Amino acid sequence: MVSLNSFKMDNINNKCAKFNNLISMNEVFWCNDKYNDDYKNLEISLEEILDAERRFERFAPFIEEAFPETKNSKGIIESTLIKIDKMKSKLEELYEVKIKGELYCKCDNNLPISGSIKARGGIYEVLKYAESLVLERNMISIEDNYKKLNNDEFKKFFSKFSIVVASTGNLGLSIGIISKKFGFNVRVHMSKDAKKWKKDLLRNIGAKVVEHDGDYSTTVRFARNEFKKHKNSHFVDDENSRDLFLGYSVAALRLKNQLEEKNIKVDSNHPLFVYLPCGVGGAPGGITFGLKRIFKENVHCFFAEPTHSPCMLLGFMTGMHDKVNVKRYGIDNITDADGLAVGKPSGFVGKILEKEISGIYTVDDSQLYKLLFYANEVEELRLEPSALTGFIGPIKLNQSPEGNKYINARNLTNIMESSTHIVWATGGNMVPENIMNDYLTKGYNIAKNL
Ligand SMILES: *Cc1c(COP(=O)(O)O)cnc(C)c1O
Repeated sequence: MVSLNSFKMDNINNKCAKFNNLISMNEVFWCNDKYNDDYKNLEISLEEILDAERRFERFAPFIEEAFPETKNSKGIIESTLIKIDKMKSKLEELYEVKIKGELYCKCDNNLPISGSIKARGGIYEVLKYAESLVLERNMISIEDNYKKLNNDEFKKFFSKFSIVVASTGNLGLSIGIISKKFGFNVRVHMSKDAKKWKKDLLRNIGAKVVEHDGDYSTTVRFARNEFKKHKNSHFVDDENSRDLFLGYSVAALRLKNQLEEKNIKVDSNHPLFVYLPCGVGGAPGGITFGLKRIFKENVHCFFAEPTHSPCMLLGFMTGMHDKVNVKRYGIDNITDADGLAVGKPSGFVGKILEKEISGIYTVDDSQLYKLLFYANEVEELRLEPSALTGFIGPIKLNQSPEGNKYINARNLTNIMESSTHIVWATGGNMVPENIMNDYLTKGYNIAKNL
C-alpha cells in the first residue's frame, strides 16, 4: 500500500525533477497546483475591460483615417480566427499523438498597424495617454469624433510630449508607429535581442532608437531611470503597466464574438483551451484575465515560453514571480523567439493570475523553426519564431502525463472530442521577405534533418 508520506515524497521528487529540467533548459510541461475555479478576482474588474473597449471604439474613426489598412474593419484593430485542420494533421503526424477536439489559430500575426499582438496593448496605452492629454485641456470631449485628432494642430500639440519605451522589438514597433501618427516624440530603448530591421523601420518613421548591449530587464531599468529626468513624457512600463494589460484583455471580448459567429460552443460540455506565447506576461496575462471573466472554469489558458527564457514559469515554480531572474539559475535568456526573450516576469501578472493560469510549458527553439516551416507549408501562415510556441500546446496537453492528469482531475476526459483548442499566433506579417525566407530555410533544414 502506498502511504501518504511516500505519496508526498513522490510529489516532492516530481517537483524537483521538473525544476531540474527547467533549469537545464529542457522542455517541460507544468500544471499549476494553485489553479482553482474561484473567480472572484478583485484586482481588476470586467468593467475596466469594457471601458478599454469603449476607448478603442472612440478612437476607431481616428485609426481608420490614420491607417487606411483598417478601412474594412472601420478602424477596429482585430485579427481573424481560422480553423487549421491541415496543421492539426501535420502536428499529429509529427508528434505521433492525436489532438482531441478542433484546432484554431488566432491570427494576431496579421493584426493591422504593427503585425503582432503588441498592436493591442501597446497601441491602447498610447491612445489612453493621448486622450488624457486632450481631455484634461478641454481640447476635445468624449462625444466628439476623434477623427479630428488627425490634423496638424493636434500634431503640433502632441509634439510637446514624449513617449519612452523599452522593448525586445515588437512593443517598440507598435508604440513607435502609433506615437508618430499622433505627432509624439518617441524614444525606443532596444535590448540586444531586437532585430535590426525593427530598429531601421523605427528610425525611418522618425522614432529615436537607443540600442543597448544588455538584456530586456536591464534595458527596461535604464529606460525607466532615464525617463524620470524628462518632464512632459510618458513611460510605457512593460513590467508594470495596467494599461497595456487592459489593452490586451479586450481581445477576450472580441474572441467571444468570433466564437459565437462561428457557432463554437464554450460551456461545461465544450471546454476551450488557449495557448499563449509569453514574454514578460502582459499580453497572455491580459487575454487570460479577460477570457476567465467571460468563460470562467470552461476556459483553460496555458502560457508558452522558450526553454532559454522561462521567466514566468520560474516565477510560478519558485513563488517568487518578479523577484526572480532566469540568470540566477544559470539560464542564458538567449533565444531566437525575440518577442519572448525576457528573463524577469511582470511585476503583477503572475500574482493576479496565480490561480487562473492552468499551466506553463517550454519549447526548444529548434521546434519553433520546424513548426514555422510547416505552418507556412500547410496553412500558408507567415509567423515569426515566438508565434510558434503556442502550436505545441495541444500536443503537450494530450501527450504528457501532467496534461492527462489535468484533464482527468477536471472530469474532461470524456468530452475532449468536443473541445476547442486555440493557438495564439502572436506575430509575423511585418517580417521582411528576405528574413522570412531565412526562417523558412532554417525550418526546412530542421524539418528534413538536413
Ligand atoms: C511580446 C510578444 C509576446 C508576449 O507578450 P508579453 O506581454 O511580453 O508576454 C508574444 N509574441 C510576440 C511575437 C511578442 O512580440
